[in-house]
Amino acid sequence: MIPYVKEFYQNLRDGKIVGAKCDACNSVSYPPIATCSECGSDELRLIQLAGTGTLLLAVPNYPLTADGRTAIAGYVRLDEGAHTMVSLEIPGFDFSSPERIQDYYGKRVRGKIVKHDTVPSVVFCTE
Ligand SMILES: [Zn+2]
Repeated sequence: MIPYVKEFYQNLRDGKIVGAKCDACNSVSYPPIATCSECGSDELRLIQLAGTGTLLLAVPNYPLTADGRTAIAGYVRLDEGAHTMVSLEIPGFDFSSPERIQDYYGKRVRGKIVKHDTVPSVVFCTE
């Protein structure tokens, strides 16, 4: 079994976003998981992802930060087929009109690697 968590963060430090591809059914998961959610196989391996996808759903004003700032939680279909919850940035989004979030459904998004303190993470941004 691959030590996914350590390798996931090491890849982020190297500038790569990785997921896990199942050798039994070819489905891709992100973030990488140890057991395939589609077929139950544990024959998975890490692959580099393009970091691009489509926004399916989002919730603005999601209280993600301890300092009181709000953020947007998104649900994205990555181009490799994985569906995942993400932290989302929409430049210029008007948080006083949260219903306008639906205007962004179906838009292309791209993941960028950011560092909070010393720990890297991925934030998706509309293109
Ligand atoms: Zn599978």
